[in-house]
Amino acid sequence: MTQFNLILLGPPGAGKGTQAGRIVAEYGIPHISTGDILRAAVKNQTQMGLEAKKFMDAGELVPDSVVIGIVKDRLQEPDTAKGFLMDGFPRTIPQAEALDEVLDALDRGVTKTLVILVDEEDLVRRLTGRRICRSCQTPFHVMFNPPKNEGVCDVCGGELYQRDDDTEATVRNRLDVYRNQTEPLIDYYDRAGVVARIDGAQAPDVVYESIRAALGPAGA
Ligand code: ADP
Ligand code: ADP
Ligand code: ZN
Repeated sequence: MTQFNLILLGPPGAGKGTQAGRIVAEYGIPHISTGDILRAAVKNQTQMGLEAKKFMDAGELVPDSVVIGIVKDRLQEPDTAKGFLMDGFPRTIPQAEALDEVLDALDRGVTKTLVILVDEEDLVRRLTGRRICRSCQTPFHVMFNPPKNEGVCDVCGGELYQRDDDTEATVRNRLDVYRNQTEPLIDYYDRAGVVARIDGAQAPDVVYESIRAALGPAGA
C-alpha cells in the first residue's frame, strides 16, 4: 500500500491550510495542524493552551517539547495508518528529528515534503486579510478568496473571525521566525530526497494541480 506521509512546509500565509483541505479530501488522510490544535487548547483554556498563548500572540514558536508531544499523541490514532498531512509541523530541526524517530519506530518515513513558495510582500497581504472559520478552520481572504456571504463560511456556515496574530507587526515577526528556524528544514528534507517545490503564487486551483502532479494518483 502506498503511504502518504506528507508534510506541508512554507512560510505563514503560503496557502498551507487552503491546500490542506483539498489534499486530505482527495488522498483520504487526516489533516494534522499543530496551529489548529494549539488554538483549540487556547480556546478551551487547558494548561497547554495557557502556556502556548503567550508565544502565539508574540508570533514566536511554542517550545519544541509541547508540539512534539502533541504530534506523538496524534500519531497514535488509528486514522494515521495510511498516512497523514502535517501542516505547520515540523518547524524546527529538533521537531523534524523527533518526527523521523517516531516514524522510524513504526517502520515508516516521510513520503513527500511539499514546500510552498510565495514572495514575502504577498504573504503580508494574504495574512492581514485572512479570515478563518471558527467551526471548521477553513481559511478565506477578504479580497483574494472571499466567502459567498460576508463573515460566513462557505463550507459549514460557521462564523469567520480574524486571528489575533494576523496583525502586520506579528506577521513580520512570524516571517523572521520562519526564515531563521523553519527554512533550514528545506535542506534537511532535500538531503532525504523527498522535497517537491511548489509555486504558491498562482491561483489556489493551479497550486493544487502542481501538488497533485508531485504526489501522483491517490489510489496507486
Ligand atoms: P500559519 O498557518 O499562519 O503558519 P499556524 O496556525 O501554523 O500559523 O501557527 C500559529 C502559531 O502556533 C505559530 O505562530 C506558533 O506560535 C504556534 N505553532 C504552530 N505550530 C507550531 C510548531 N510546529 N512549533 C512551534 N510553534 C507552533
Ligand atoms: P497558511 O496555512 O500557509 O498560513 P492559508 O492557507 O491560511 O496559509 O492562506 C493564507 C491567506 O491567503 C488566506 O487568507 C487564504 O485565503 C489566502 N490564500 C491562500 N492561497 C492563496 C492563493 N493561491 N492566492 C491568493 N490568496 C491565497
Ligand atoms: Zn467552516
